[in-house]
Amino acid sequence: MNISGSTRMLGLIGSPVGHSKSPEMYNYCFKKFERDCAYLAFDVTEENVEAAIKAIRTLNLRGANVTMPLKKAVIPYLDRITPAAEITNSVNTIINENGVLTGYCTDGMGFTGNLRAGGITVKDKKITILGGGGVSSAVSAQCALEGAKELSIFNRKDKFWSRLEAHAEVIRKAAPACKVNVYDLDDEEILKKEIAESHLLVNANCVGMAPLENESLIKDTSVFREDLTVADVVYSPAETKLLREAKACGCRTFGGLGMLLQQGAEALRLYTGDEMPVKEIEEYLYK
Ligand code: NAD
Repeated sequence: MNISGSTRMLGLIGSPVGHSKSPEMYNYCFKKFERDCAYLAFDVTEENVEAAIKAIRTLNLRGANVTMPLKKAVIPYLDRITPAAEITNSVNTIINENGVLTGYCTDGMGFTGNLRAGGITVKDKKITILGGGGVSSAVSAQCALEGAKELSIFNRKDKFWSRLEAHAEVIRKAAPACKVNVYDLDDEEILKKEIAESHLLVNANCVGMAPLENESLIKDTSVFREDLTVADVVYSPAETKLLREAKACGCRTFGGLGMLLQQGAEALRLYTGDEMPVKEIEEYLYK
């Protein structure tokens, strides 16, 4: 990589950031597309969020990715945010267009982008989503914004329950054409019925990831049928128990790694307009 007097800087802000693969991923792409850009990770805690956003303006960074714990904290310091960022109250990408900072939430776009790469769209579909935390809200918001017909979101009655009910109300207002139902995950009969009526089942929670890698929220595998698509947001392991069992029953399956890579692809599109070579990046970073 050649750094020159005109190299445009980009970065990741959040804490911790030392483990992030983002610098390798974006710098690989800048080199491949001969962009005069460089990407670094900056450890920024909540006390310094205002100063960090000011630095994006002062130093004229092209943009930044935002990770925990700053996804909400950056919002008051931006000039505008997209509808998905507004519904989820979360920003993971900032674009600097001549001093105007726009906040995007590309998490859900990564989810639908991964399905689209496999020829599946969410428009007019009924979707059952398991989980009501951060990733679930990004997935549900994006599906509603892309024209899903109905969302049935299940969560256990834990600390996420009331937050999920409030989030469902926000989606109903932002995308009135999409029907949004919230159900208790313990209600197995309703879960079976909703999956039977759905085109797509999404696992959007921690079950399937260590230490729960031998678990799946779908105990009754008779719900899997050949015309049901099953997606998981968990990316480690690459294939969860849920996906293994769904695939064995003939379902089309999508893993969380594709979603993660497509979020990066979305951010690269916003940064430079380049199309990330997703398969190449997957080989480079994860194999
Ligand atoms: P979160 O803490 O915001 O939400 C956790 C959710 O899991 C809640 O709905 C909670 O009720 C549910 N849950 C937890 N344990 C459960 C259990 N034993 N049974 C039933 N439900 C349970 O977490 P998050 O940020 O939404 O992350 C969820 C998962 O998404 C993580 O596994 C993470 O690895 C994955 N993730 C994927 C991507 C991607 O791009 N693919 C990005 C970020 C996170």
